[in-house]
Amino acid sequence: MRFDAVVVAGGSGARAGGPKQWRALAGRPVLWWSVEALAVAGARRIVVVHPTGEAERVRTLIARPVLLAEGGASRFASVKAGVAALDDDPPDAILVHDAARPGLTVSVVADLLANLDGAEAALPVLPTSDTLKRSDDGAWLTGPAPERSRLFRAQTPQAFHWTVFRRALEAWRADDDPTDDIAIVEAVGARVRMTAGGARLMKLTYPEDFAMLEALLAPRASVRVGSGFDAHRFGEGDHVWLCGVRVPHDAGLIGHSDADVGLHALTDALLGAIAAGDIGDHFPPSDPRWKGAASDRFLRHALDLVKAARGRVVQIDVTLICERPRIKPFRDAMKSRLSEILELPLNAVSVKATTTETMGFTGRGEGMAAQALATIELFE
Ligand code: MG
Repeated sequence: MRFDAVVVAGGSGARAGGPKQWRALAGRPVLWWSVEALAVAGARRIVVVHPTGEAERVRTLIARPVLLAEGGASRFASVKAGVAALDDDPPDAILVHDAARPGLTVSVVADLLANLDGAEAALPVLPTSDTLKRSDDGAWLTGPAPERSRLFRAQTPQAFHWTVFRRALEAWRADDDPTDDIAIVEAVGARVRMTAGGARLMKLTYPEDFAMLEALLAPRASVRVGSGFDAHRFGEGDHVWLCGVRVPHDAGLIGHSDADVGLHALTDALLGAIAAGDIGDHFPPSDPRWKGAASDRFLRHALDLVKAARGRVVQIDVTLICERPRIKPFRDAMKSRLSEILELPLNAVSVKATTTETMGFTGRGEGMAAQALATIELFE
């Protein structure tokens, strides 16, 4: 099911002591966590609804491509603005999520989508574990209390079939601000399915919530490290391809593809981190399709496999080993190319070079080699 997501990050955070969506939580901005989880869960497009004048801040904090929409005067207006940003290419389903709930997991999203089969909307809930009491003045019990087994605490993201939600949004009275988005489809009689929420999906409301959630978020990803090595022989030619950059040289590198040792070592590092074999398994040299191929497609394929394993690349480090050509003049171009292919910030991309002091095959100029390391986070 193709789904898009709207992340509402327009709040002023009066009770948490200032806007909370920008604050750091377990090393990342609060907003980042939700966008990351939705992207890893497979959201096709993600709209971030931000307060007026904060578009640039969202772009700085979130490296992933997201759509931006300016929030309105009420939460309802903000949700409507976010949904409108998707009208040009409607998805099958839409998830509406509060940025103030950064503890979203991939399994919560998968559960919601699975339950949209046979329902018009779905929401994650928690059972009420404490006994409930009633007080009309906040001081004295004025019972009788509601029966807690029939009451559930609603969380987000809330999931809807696109057509149902779109219709219900139009039908809702704009001057009435619903407490959540499910209320909007309940008003048009939609059947709403409950799914399992979680303690970590708690809403950041009070200052002390940050410490509590930080403790819950810390172990959500496991870290993997992969290594790769590659070598190619020099032959006829007037340039070599290294880390996706054309470097003029008085020789070329011989290989079935473009013989980019940097990209090949890096591709193997990514594959190694998710235990997915090596570059030869995925792109056999015997296959004529890869003859002369630009090697960025190998690396992109490895990146797709990392994403499919619910992972993200955190950082890469490549070392090119040769006496010549000189790497330094091309290093910045290589770093930007790698950052572009792997969707990584520049400060997470390292390209280094070394000679072998004229020893060995690289030292004698018979060929060149590269080794690479990649750090990957796999999400639950
Ligand atoms: Mg190779």
